[in-house]
Amino acid sequence: MKIAFYTLGCKVNQYDTEAMRELFEHAGWETVPFDGEADVYLINTCSVTQISDRKSRQMISQAHRRSPGAFLVVTGCYAQTEPDRVRDLPGVGLVVGTDGRKEIVRTVEQALCGAVSESVPDIRRVRTFEEMGAVEDSRTRAVLKIQDGCSNFCSYCVIPYARGPIRSRSPESVESELKKLASNGFREVVLTGIHLASYGLDLKDADIGLADVLKIAERTEGIERVRLGSLEPGFCGEAFAESAAGLSKLCRQFHLSLQSGSDSVLKRMNRRYDTAGFERAVSVLRNYMPDCAVTTDVIAGFVGETEEEHRETCAFVKRIGFARMHVFPYSRRKGTAADRMEGHLERAVKERRASELIAIGKEMEEAFVGSLVGSDQTVLIEDDGTGYTGNYVRVRCAGREGDLVRVRITGRDRTLAFGEVLP
Ligand code: SF4
Repeated sequence: MKIAFYTLGCKVNQYDTEAMRELFEHAGWETVPFDGEADVYLINTCSVTQISDRKSRQMISQAHRRSPGAFLVVTGCYAQTEPDRVRDLPGVGLVVGTDGRKEIVRTVEQALCGAVSESVPDIRRVRTFEEMGAVEDSRTRAVLKIQDGCSNFCSYCVIPYARGPIRSRSPESVESELKKLASNGFREVVLTGIHLASYGLDLKDADIGLADVLKIAERTEGIERVRLGSLEPGFCGEAFAESAAGLSKLCRQFHLSLQSGSDSVLKRMNRRYDTAGFERAVSVLRNYMPDCAVTTDVIAGFVGETEEEHRETCAFVKRIGFARMHVFPYSRRKGTAADRMEGHLERAVKERRASELIAIGKEMEEAFVGSLVGSDQTVLIEDDGTGYTGNYVRVRCAGREGDLVRVRITGRDRTLAFGEVLP
């Protein structure tokens, strides 16, 4: 039997698709490209914005148009949040919730034999981390998911509904996966999760947190670099910064999701920090690691955001000086608290505010790359003759794929830096 996969959205989704692909291949299925002929198409959807919802529906329709007789399996956050709508799309044979993929091969095979009806409910069995390996991000870098789920319930976010409560990979599994990656030639690992800062909170007997995972990575021979996914500002206190600064393999890049630089908007978003707390976290990180890059996400035009609140955000992000900033216009998510709030803004207003923030983000990014000119950095070379510094600046320089080279940054073109390899 032939199966084709399509993934929308974040690294966690890519990770999940890869895990499912492995399960199907172990069961003897042949993986074929998504634009080819397959018996089954599996679409792993995303629901982070309304555009993601639309794109998810488009990919389902595309697969159905290509092979009207094929069986379509839809999983991921959009399938989880709008299962009825997904089930009604032509060709969809199975809708699987985000936690129901452990049994995916058996369920699909049964469904193909007619043993499972077309309207299979979301399957809520939990897939263990031990059953999931890492995902290749490039030939030198792999992504290892160590945490899933979130219980924060930010007012705009569907993730706690779609992915359920916090679950963490055991430290033993982290260690063995890291060793496996090192022996497979990966030199850099990105530790990822939906809400990474809560790693370990569910491992009641282990008394372990993210800082302990970083120590495991530090002692894994062959892994030269470790990068972290998104962190909460509240997590980045003195204790974390001090221990992070003592780790030679941890990349000096910290992604702290800001979402808004206005305290009143943060409150409506149900975020668990204010701008003063955020600024404190950044200054602690910079205090211990002066060359670190602090990157962020911002939502433009949240419900009820006034022009003044938007200006506060613009001023705040400039004051912090992010090395990179992703901006999203607020997107209404059904079932969330924000969806029920009064004062949704017009699309044109959200887009105009997003464009203003994107322009500020570009300036800040160029300024950060410019600030590295004249400095010495370590670059991990990828297959196209460029590579990243620890603080996540792309550098063009000499070297072979997989080499870690010391370079002097000699110049830059916008956000691409140029480096000369040091003897
Ligand atoms: S912290 Fe907030 S935004 Fe992030 S996944 Fe949890 S609920 Fe969503």
